[in-house]
Amino acid sequence: MLEGLPVAPGIAIGHAVSIGGQRVEVYRLPVPPERVDDEIERLRQAVRAAAEDLQTTRQKAHQQLGKELASIFEAHLLVLEDSGFLGEIEERIRGQKVNAEWAVHEISEELQRRFERFEVEHLRERSEDVRDVAQHLLSRLAGIQSRDLAEISEGVVIVAEDLVPSEAIRLGRHGVAGFALERGGQTSHTAIIARSLHIPLVGGLAGVTSEITDADLVVVDGNAGRVVLHPTQSALKRYRRIEARELRRETRLRRTRRLVSKTRDGQPVELLANIELPEEAEEARSYGAAGIGLYRSEFLFIEKSPELPSEEEQYETYRRLLKEVAPHPVVVRTFDLGGRKLAREVLDTREENPVMGLRGIRLTLARSEIFHYQLRALCRAAAHGDLRILLPMVSAVEEVRQFREMLDRALRELGRERRRHVKEIPLGVMIEVPSAAMVADSLAREVDFFSIGTNDLIQYAMAVDRGNEHVAYLYRPLHPGILRMIRFTVDGAREAGIGVSLCGEMGAQPRYAPLLVGLGLRSLSVVPRSVPVLKRLLRQIDAPFWERAASECLELHTAEEVESFVEERLTDAGIDTEGAAA
Ligand code: PEP
Ligand code: MG
Repeated sequence: MLEGLPVAPGIAIGHAVSIGGQRVEVYRLPVPPERVDDEIERLRQAVRAAAEDLQTTRQKAHQQLGKELASIFEAHLLVLEDSGFLGEIEERIRGQKVNAEWAVHEISEELQRRFERFEVEHLRERSEDVRDVAQHLLSRLAGIQSRDLAEISEGVVIVAEDLVPSEAIRLGRHGVAGFALERGGQTSHTAIIARSLHIPLVGGLAGVTSEITDADLVVVDGNAGRVVLHPTQSALKRYRRIEARELRRETRLRRTRRLVSKTRDGQPVELLANIELPEEAEEARSYGAAGIGLYRSEFLFIEKSPELPSEEEQYETYRRLLKEVAPHPVVVRTFDLGGRKLAREVLDTREENPVMGLRGIRLTLARSEIFHYQLRALCRAAAHGDLRILLPMVSAVEEVRQFREMLDRALRELGRERRRHVKEIPLGVMIEVPSAAMVADSLAREVDFFSIGTNDLIQYAMAVDRGNEHVAYLYRPLHPGILRMIRFTVDGAREAGIGVSLCGEMGAQPRYAPLLVGLGLRSLSVVPRSVPVLKRLLRQIDAPFWERAASECLELHTAEEVESFVEERLTDAGIDTEGAAA
């Protein structure tokens, strides 16, 4: 049994497949002058074998996993077939009379360093291709055949040191059952992807890649954060029972989809879904979401990385999404890149403190030549349904005004080209920076709706990095300061007569949702699976009771006081928040 972190819930039972982490140790060995030609021939043979491997992989990847993945191997082949690269390696073998492994290692390191110095991001990234190719060559020189990604079959458990989000998406779409990783925290993007695709993930499993051998039968218990190696028959039976119970729970939850979402006293509360990938829209519908309240469009970018998604690709994605969700609305948040979300592709500089740097709307305004195409795609797609645009990380009114100028430029251009598009698209802002919350009354005059992003609002208001476990104890959604900002934002929206929703994780928590209703929220956007859970809960609560409770909370002094107060009120009202999710 290996203990780790529960990152994405669920149980996966399958045979293990390790990917990555097959590092080959390299030593410098002298080669006698009469053996130099043989050593070069050994290198050439390894190059031929590696090229064949890559061609096969590229072909299979293309057939089974799509063009995108195939292009990675294409890039590797280009490096491998580059005569300059191979020439330098051969010269090193000849000049220094060293073994092929050492020459490959040294030349590839030098080349990587050269690429890393480039200002332009896509050239910097070639350094990773060189590293991969060198590793492949070294494996071949050592007689190891490296793993063919296209051979990974459905239902397996992927064991790896770490996965980048794009790998998680590709493997997830390919039908793998679970992930067991050495690294990975709960807020990483790989974690978000695993949860979105319902693939159980256990992270923080130190040494898992050496403990588990390919084809071992393993159980990934994403609920408890553990991996069971060689499970006994009785353990397997127990896990299969848990799997079956979860399936029954799902069916029960889906049955609520036709129920109206309202409080016991009859006040409607709109429940929308947050999604990262367009295919989640179908799931959102099956759980009865009244639309998409947050489509984190930056994942389109993360998935395509290092290439930029073209206007046409974006247009098609948004159009299909609108069709899937119709007649309900889709709120598309413009790329919220930067911070920890893959800014490298669009930023030419590295930032000391990226979370407070060129992120969200700031990056949108700074790199308008990229975002122009997102705006064109959005204005065109809006002709196919109820599309709304949401801006991330807004901290001041001026940013909205500058954005409108950018939007106007895109609209004028589409007009000149006589392309079908929509001119009046509802525009909203995320309220996730404290300064935005504090000028919510002014912002409300500039936009059509607000979406409160508590994940970042709490991070920035309390100066608590949302991904740092050392200060996690300070990350308290019920801090009176946070509640006051939410109230001020809701009041600002109400006075201006615009819509306001909340899309942070806080809204999905059964023990916080009643208080949010009490603070005046009548719309929440949450992960699709939480929609039925919240619907059941909301149907048990009385809005006036929670309105009174919220007013009292706003008078309290500490997070702890509010937390106990809310617990008491939940007990008084006979609401079992633990049971809500069961
Ligand atoms: C938020 O900050 O609350 C939010 C919903 O956005 P994200 O989690 O994508 O930063
Ligand atoms: Mg945010």
